[in-house]
This record gives sequence, structure tokens and C-alpha cells, in this order.
Amino acid sequence: MTMYKEFHRRSIDKRDEFWAEQAGLIDWNKPAEQICDFSNPPFVKWFKGGETNLCFNAVDRHAAQRPNDRALVYISTETDEEKVYTFAELQREVERMAAIYQDLGVRKGDRVLIYMPMIAEAAFAMLACARIGAIHSVVFGGFAAGSLATRIDDAKPVLMVSSDAGMRNGKPVPYKHLVDEACKLAEFPPQKVLIVDRGLDKGFPKVAGRDIDYAELRARHMDAKVPVTWLESSEPSYILYTSGTTGKPKGVQRDTGGYAVALAASMKHIFTGDAGETMFSTSDIGWVVGHSYIIYGPLLAGMATVMYEGTPLRPDAGIWWQIVEKYKVTVMFSAPTAVRVLKKQDPAFLKKYDLSSLKHLFLAGEPLDETTHKWIMDELGIPVIDNYWQTETGWPMLSAIRGIEKTPIKYGSPSFPVYGYDLRIFREDGTECGPDEKGIVGVVPPLPPGCLSTVWGQDDRFVSTYFTLFKDPVIFSSSDWGIKDADGYHTILGRMDDVINVAGHRLGTREIEEAIQAHAAIAEVAVVGVADQLKGQMPMAFAVVKDASRVDSAEKRIELEKEVMKTVDNLLGAIARPARVHFISGLPKTRSGKMLRRSIQALAEGRDAGDLTTIDDPSTLEQIRSALAS
Ligand code: AMP
Repeated sequence: MTMYKEFHRRSIDKRDEFWAEQAGLIDWNKPAEQICDFSNPPFVKWFKGGETNLCFNAVDRHAAQRPNDRALVYISTETDEEKVYTFAELQREVERMAAIYQDLGVRKGDRVLIYMPMIAEAAFAMLACARIGAIHSVVFGGFAAGSLATRIDDAKPVLMVSSDAGMRNGKPVPYKHLVDEACKLAEFPPQKVLIVDRGLDKGFPKVAGRDIDYAELRARHMDAKVPVTWLESSEPSYILYTSGTTGKPKGVQRDTGGYAVALAASMKHIFTGDAGETMFSTSDIGWVVGHSYIIYGPLLAGMATVMYEGTPLRPDAGIWWQIVEKYKVTVMFSAPTAVRVLKKQDPAFLKKYDLSSLKHLFLAGEPLDETTHKWIMDELGIPVIDNYWQTETGWPMLSAIRGIEKTPIKYGSPSFPVYGYDLRIFREDGTECGPDEKGIVGVVPPLPPGCLSTVWGQDDRFVSTYFTLFKDPVIFSSSDWGIKDADGYHTILGRMDDVINVAGHRLGTREIEEAIQAHAAIAEVAVVGVADQLKGQMPMAFAVVKDASRVDSAEKRIELEKEVMKTVDNLLGAIARPARVHFISGLPKTRSGKMLRRSIQALAEGRDAGDLTTIDDPSTLEQIRSALAS
């Protein structure tokens, strides 16, 4: 891999020269005065003084050159809709949405919270923010009112954009209802809520003076022309919340110029996507993959992007491949869990369609096991690229870089550090690990363009969460364990903290514990991630009740378990629901009162409980064992 090695080395040793070149992949209203300002570490400002706009680069410049090329392909197998927007049409829709925003008083720097299903209007809503310099905060539709309210209070949006409902597996999923509930729970609810009425939840309640009908306003702005607002490169483009070790999610703040350059470069070097081609990412706009590789990345590259509302199995397990054939998808992006789901279906579905357009399938979000990696590569007969990154980084940190060199793929490994990242594996004392030695995945700052610039409104939290693992050297800690082999291939070995990964989605066990404790019967609870064949991990709860009579029979335990699950559904969303809630009379702790989470997790996974020299009450472990056996 000499060619790629050289490319990577140059990105670190000749950082400014390297990124100045990449900056040429996007259009600037004003070029940068300084490529990298790292005068206030660990904060970094990329392309300082430069002025650009994400929407201009993603939409307008292509609309000017190739107005009739496909830009957005919206497919819903839930409502049987399919609509293609050209770049010219996308620009018109975005301008209409931007005009609506201006009508509603949204100004540059204001936050707009987007809580929407996978419909084209969600893309218009995001791009319209970028167009006028408003900061979007997209919240995943699977999150319930409590999670939504926490995010509202942190971002303090002037406007929320939502829909009456989404659809999943043929059933409507209420959105507007949850918006109303969240607005009641929140301390800083928005003044206005813009609703895209899909007609799925007929007669949903409307709040007079606050709720506004999108179709009505759109009709007034059919010919709207809204010029782009040029932003200084470091001005924020969006906030995206992610779970951490505390109960309170962190608002990952992204800049404008650095993000645009990083994504445009990644489309060329990593994803090898070209203008005129089509990309299909099976994620959701509520996650970072949705931001980077459903909306901004492909559009910046002048590709068409597929927005798909539906599951991989309806109407049958061939639906994704049918889309690939129909739109001649060249780049596809998904998660290992989805592939494991497909692996359980009839393999004939994979052979039924012409997949010859497909160059690569990228998989990320959770560890990709060797068996699944090999299976899907054999079935598709194309390279399947495992890539590793986080909400924080916004684009891959480890990957094969096929645009530079076609390095061999090792099953179960996301290959090499991506250019721009001085990524290394560290021992717990801050020294660097040797080959095949497990350590912490860290990045020597400055972080490259595109990564988080801070935690929204909490610069101190940005520093303390990510840069204080060692006093010396100061590194960005990924909170993941990893290992590098003698050939330079990396493997990720899981999180160091209490964050778990369910079907590629990051969940904080602390958040789930707080939700469970909101149930009046619960005194104390521990939530751990337990290995799951399909989803990677599943949350499992061990709870202590205040009054033992609540769980003194099997029926009562089942009843309370259901209630606790419902509490989690209501506060966080079904995505965070524990697979099981076991009731025990005490949790294993050290004599100083620290919860022995690792031991609980080990037992739940059928392993040895580990070092128990400091345990206060060993009988608690017996209780866990018998609860698991019951
Ligand atoms: P999120 O920010 O929700 O995308 O979650 C990021 C976390 O997912 C990382 O810190 C890793 O723990 C895990 N992750 C993401 N991609 C991979 C991958 N390719 N292999 C192993 N773990 C991954």
C-alpha cells in the first residue's frame, strides 16, 4: 500500500498544502486566508476567512450546470410513492422552503429542529437551513417525546419542522403527537411548528397560532428566489446529538467549510462516487450517516441520492437490490445489522436483479464480523468496505481508500487510518502500542476538516470529554479499543465506556437507566449491553424494586417488566427498550459503592464475572445468575 501510505503521510506532514488542494473540490465565495488555524488547541478552525455555503455546493452549482440530472430519488415502499427531483427541481423546492423559513422569522444562526420521517421534504428542510445559514438539528424519528424535549431545551430552536406521521411496516408512526408532548415537556419550546401533512394521521390536533401547514405556505412561495447566505468557514452548519456516558446527550457541532471539503474529498477518494451516478445509503437522516451520506456528501459530488422510507424486507427481501437495478446505483452504504438481517433471507433475492452498476458496498456503525463480511462480498462479487467512524468525526476515520489505491481487503477489518487523521493506538499510560497490541484508538490533533468543532454551547465539555485521556500527549479519544496488525490493518474491539451499540446506533446505558428509574416502582437499576447475534448488542436491565411485593410472583414480574419497557418507550423511544428487565434485590457493587458493570455484563453474556476481590455482597451475583436462568 505504498501509494496510499504516501498519500496519508502527505496529509499529515504537509497538512496545509494537502487540504488547500482538497478545498478546490468545492466552490468558495471568498477563498480561505489560512488553511488551518490551530492557535487555540484543541480547537481548530479550517479554511479561516473563507466563505462558502453547503447548499450552494450541494444544489445550486449542479443546478446551473446539469439542471435536468437526477438529484433526489424519494422512494417509500410504505406509502407506495416514488418521485425523482432533478437538481433544478431540488433547487426550487429548497428555495420555497427557505422562503417559508424567512416568512416565519428564521434568521442566520437560528436553530431549526427537524423531526421528520424519510421524506423528500426533510431534505428540503435541511438544505434550506444551510441555504440561509440557519443551524439544523435533526432528531431521529424513533426518539420519543422525552428525548426530543431534552434536545429542544439544549438547542432552543425558533422553529420545528415535522410531519403528521411516518410509516413503518405498514403502520403509521405518530410524529406530530410526540412533537406536542415534547413541547409540553420542554422549557424552551419553539414558537412555530411547520407540519408536512401526509394525510397519514387524519385529524391530528393543531395548536392555533403555533402550528403551520407546509402546503399552504409553499403555495404562497412557488416562485421564491432566496439567495444563499455566504458563511465564514467556521460558522456552524448543524448540531447532531449523540449519547455519551452521562444521561445528557452532547450536541456535536459541525462547521461549514471544513465539512464541505471533507465530504467532497471523501466522495472522491473513499466512496469513488462521480457526478451523474447514484448513491443509496440505507440509514436515516436522524443519524450522522444520513447527514453525510444521504444528504450532503452525494449531492456535493453531483450524484443523485436515494431517500428510502421502508424496511429492507418489504415488500420482500429484494427491495434494496431492485432499487439498485432501477437507478443504477454505483455506491451503496449500509450497516452490518442490515446485512445480517438479509443473510437470513432467501439468497435468491440477491441474484434476481442486475447489480452490475454497483462498484462498492460500504458498511459502518458497528463491528463487521468476518463471517458477514465474507458472505456479502461473495454474494455481491464486489469489494465490501468496512469503515469506522463516529458522529463526532462526520466522515470515516478508518477505511480502505479505493480512490487512491486498491488495497486488499481483510475480512473484519476497516483497514487503515484515513488521510487527515493522525490515528494511533495508545496504551493506557499514553505511550503507543506495538503491532497486535490492544489499545485506545486516538487521533493526534488537530482533527481534520469535517470533525466536530465543539459541543454545542459547551466548549469545556468538548475539551473534557474528548481531550483529557492523557495529560501528555493530548489526543482526541475515540473511546474505542482497537488493534493494528503488522500489515497496518486495524480492528475495532468495542467501547471503553458505558456506551452500547444496538444495530449500529449508539445508546448511553446511563440514559436508559435514568428512564427506567422514572418508573415509580424502581429503586435502582443497572443497564448493560449484551452481545446479540443480529443487532450486535442489546440493552439488558437489572433492577431493584422499592417494594418487594411488586415482584413476588412470576405474573407480577412480567407485568412490571412490561411497564418498565413502556416507560423507556415513552421517554426515549422503542429503540432503547431493554431486551429484558430482570428484578433482583441488590446490585453488585464494590465496597466503595461503585457498580460492577463489567461483571454484570460478563454474567449476562455467559462469561466469567472477572475480578471480584472488591465486591461488597457476592450473593448479588448469584441472584443475577438465577434471574438469567429463569
Ligand atoms: P455513532 O457515533 O453512533 O456512529 O457510533 C460510533 C461508534 O460505533 C464508534 O465509536 C464505534 O464504537 C462504533 N463503530 C462505528 N463504525 C464501526 C466499525 N466499522 N467497526 C466497529 N465499530 C464501529
